[in-house]
Amino acid sequence: MRYKFKNKELLERALTHTSYAYERLKDGKFNYERLEFLGDSIINFVISKWLYNNFPEMDEGNMSKIKAALASKEVLAEASRKLGLDDMIRLSKGEEKSGGRSRNSILSDVFEAYVAAVFLDGGLEAAESVILEALKEKMEMVSQTRGMPFDYRSALQEYLMKLGLPVPQYEVIEERGPQHRKRFTVKVCVGNKEFLGEGNSKKEAMYSAAKAAWESIVGKEKEIIKDKFFLG
Ligand code: MN
Repeated sequence: MRYKFKNKELLERALTHTSYAYERLKDGKFNYERLEFLGDSIINFVISKWLYNNFPEMDEGNMSKIKAALASKEVLAEASRKLGLDDMIRLSKGEEKSGGRSRNSILSDVFEAYVAAVFLDGGLEAAESVILEALKEKMEMVSQTRGMPFDYRSALQEYLMKLGLPVPQYEVIEERGPQHRKRFTVKVCVGNKEFLGEGNSKKEAMYSAAKAAWESIVGKEKEIIKDKFFLG
């Protein structure tokens, strides 16, 4: 799945953190920062184009919101991990020790740099397919909800509000395990139905309860929702 570079130096540069360039290379400037700058623009462009072409009724305010969510640090860092770029980054010893390899800010920068390297090596189309592949799941979620936020808690809340129904109530119903390794169970009520979620924090458990509710409700009533809500 990973793009095959003709010019390996571009890939090397995209994977080189400044700290490594200064510590190990003669050329401190051989790092990913300029590539990152370019890649950031390419990612934003590709997402904008995707939103413009796929959601003809969406206004620019909404498109900006979704673009920001799709190009967020967390999403791009995840893309880096999926491509296995995290294992390939060249960091100084100090940066390595302080956990740089798993830091989202570095991982998202590396994904941006990687995209720019693919663009310079193989053109816009190649860069575009890397981005679309990496963001596929999130984009599917945006399509599924016709542009609603892909955070289940907000999605559920917005959905119920638009139907004129009360906002969902969350309740922690169980806390177990030792202090440093607690597990939480949260219950959310939507109408007369209850959904449960579990997680390592209250927030995580709420999120997974919201996901269960969302999938059950939206999955079952897809057609009704489409008429009543998404296209309304
Ligand atoms: Mn960046």
